[in-house]
Amino acid sequence: MNEQTGGPRTLLKRLREVMAEELGAQERLDKIVRHIAGNMIAEVCSVYVLRSDDVLELFATQGLNPKSVHEASLRVGQGLVGTIAATARTLNLDNAQKHPAFRYLPETGEEIFHSFLGVPILRSGRALGVLVVQNQDKRVYRDDEVEALETTAMVLAELIAAGELEGLDKQGQGLDLSRPLNLKGAALADGIGLGHVILHEPRVVVTNLFNEDAEYETRRLHQSLAKLRFSIDDMLQHREVARDGEHREVLEAYRMFANDQGWVRRMEEQVRNGLTAEAAVEKVQSDNRARMMRQADPYLRERLNDFDDLAYRLLRELVGKPHGPVTDRGDKDYVVVARNMGAAELLDYNGPALRGLVLEEGAPTSHVVIVARALGIPVVGQVHNALSYADSANPVIIDGEEGMVYLRPTEEVQEAYAEKVQFRAKRQEVYRSLRDEPAVSRDGQPVSLLMNAGLLMDLPNVKNSGAAGIGLFRTELQFMVSSRFPRSGEQEQLYRDVLESVEGKPVTFRTLDVGGDKVLPYLRSEQEENPALGWRAIRLALDRPGLMRAQLRALLKAAADRELRVMIPMVTETREVLQVREIIQREVSLLTRFGHRVPRALALGAMIEVPSLLYQLDDLMQAVDFVSVGSNDLFQFVFASDRGNARIARRYDHLNRAFLRVLRKIVVAAQAHGTPLTLCGEMAGRPLSAMALMGLGYRSISMAGAAIGPVKAMLLETDIGKLEGALLAEICKSYGGQTIREFLMDFADTNGIPY
Ligand code: PEP
Ligand code: MG
Repeated sequence: MNEQTGGPRTLLKRLREVMAEELGAQERLDKIVRHIAGNMIAEVCSVYVLRSDDVLELFATQGLNPKSVHEASLRVGQGLVGTIAATARTLNLDNAQKHPAFRYLPETGEEIFHSFLGVPILRSGRALGVLVVQNQDKRVYRDDEVEALETTAMVLAELIAAGELEGLDKQGQGLDLSRPLNLKGAALADGIGLGHVILHEPRVVVTNLFNEDAEYETRRLHQSLAKLRFSIDDMLQHREVARDGEHREVLEAYRMFANDQGWVRRMEEQVRNGLTAEAAVEKVQSDNRARMMRQADPYLRERLNDFDDLAYRLLRELVGKPHGPVTDRGDKDYVVVARNMGAAELLDYNGPALRGLVLEEGAPTSHVVIVARALGIPVVGQVHNALSYADSANPVIIDGEEGMVYLRPTEEVQEAYAEKVQFRAKRQEVYRSLRDEPAVSRDGQPVSLLMNAGLLMDLPNVKNSGAAGIGLFRTELQFMVSSRFPRSGEQEQLYRDVLESVEGKPVTFRTLDVGGDKVLPYLRSEQEENPALGWRAIRLALDRPGLMRAQLRALLKAAADRELRVMIPMVTETREVLQVREIIQREVSLLTRFGHRVPRALALGAMIEVPSLLYQLDDLMQAVDFVSVGSNDLFQFVFASDRGNARIARRYDHLNRAFLRVLRKIVVAAQAHGTPLTLCGEMAGRPLSAMALMGLGYRSISMAGAAIGPVKAMLLETDIGKLEGALLAEICKSYGGQTIREFLMDFADTNGIPY
């Protein structure tokens, strides 16, 4: 760049002025290309914008034939411009016509220009168009020129993203940014949400990089950190969320990170190296993010993600923007789109207008997903490039049942979903009307329909769903949303709250089921080759009896003068149950000796999840007060098929004859010993599978609260006696194809059973 033109600083200043002027869109664009050409001493400067039909249309030019504006066009991938758009990479050529991708557009008159510099107009990694400069002489553009053009392209990206160029394209069919997109992701939480996109924390762009006074910047950093800590404390003390135990845990984790000295020290060091406070935060955040990308351990990633979240909050504190787009949500329903998010941040959005959450990352065990489920918000995760495709205020439909996100949905999709939502609402209405009806089959057999729970937020659903009680309380959830081991007093409080909220209905507490995919960040353990088969659940508990004793004590105290039901996960040998019973008895004597009141009755049960138990059922039934089949894990181990692996998820059916024979075998053993039996895996919550369970002899099943309505609707219409005979005959048949799904569907259809 030379003095005469003023270089990139002057160019950016000019462009800022042009952006602020009162101009029509075409006029503004024309002025921009003139400024760029002048500043870069280029004979040509052109802007191509990507249309919704994947064609790049010439929108403005200085130097090419003006008649070719809105006439010349190239497909993505075609010619140099199309190649730049397809690859999102810059091309810098001294003789463009020699390049294999070169394609001559006669209407432009560009044949006399040799050198060519084209940069993609990028937004969140996605090309919205291409900006080109050309010169007659053969030269390679210098690095500083390339950088200047790339920076300039950012200004154009904003212009396109702001929608200013909409309607200028030749056929008026719209730009790429307005194209409807159907994105497939992972269904992480059920439900359907319609609304407008809110981008979670639109990027804070740090423009002021270098400091002039390190001491001043350090002070700014500390002031902002203090404000950040204050705002977290404030949320903990005053906000409505603070009353709920698990919200509190999440916020407390944030408070701990905000006081992390290592984090603060690294930022201080960057300021000493010459950066401004915000640039220092961004630098440490980006190092942190790079570590996050490399980190395979999902729980360490979660922790790094919490830091990322906090760094965003700190950045916004420094640039004076409030946390989260809280203020500009408007009054419309919205769906939050984020790369990833901490659970506390989701709570920031919580309210009646929040309709869904779309994540580029996210896993079924992320804290944020656990909390979203408890709030009843659909979540679709692992949606690649969601942030690049979505723009603020775009209409969106999220389907947490199918794992689909419809961005800027077409009218057909909108209509289909309006119907689906209505259909679901009507169905909910029907289920609500069944809530107080007794759960009895058509032929008069009572069945206990219980609910699975794990967080305080689930509790109102026990009543709302009409569940007969809680068949599985996953105590590990309290541990998973916490930044450290919940203290014994905190555990006791949660258990007491649970027992009080159910108004005398039975609750079965499962002891800590961690390990496998449920890892606690603060419980460091060795990397295991097969964590699902590793040091988990009762195995871990028996090796760390302190942990288990603390939990059992909390349960015993919470259930003083009531009935306490405790269930052990992942039992492999009957002996393990006997060991736990001994620990419980010791705790009961201790508590009694110290004058504590204890439960008036105690029932100890085992989960049947490990196939080894199938060969010691007689022993087991005698050692326990009840059993509960964990069909998710039992199926995984019987079929040697990882329950979390999407590639094999549809390969084997739970309604497989072999599996149903296993389930029947358990019924027969339980009946022979008079041992109460429940099943609490996911199949209990699907009407067709639940119908099969009725036929197999299960009279107690436990499922997600939302499933109770549909399962009850099935039960009320099912003649179990009639089903039983046919089903038992069916599972004994031998066929190559093993699923009896068709048989069950036929039975349901013939007998008018909804499923
Ligand atoms: C099961 O394995 O079926 C079960 C109910 O437990 P979880 O899904 O928590 O492993
Ligand atoms: Mg299990």
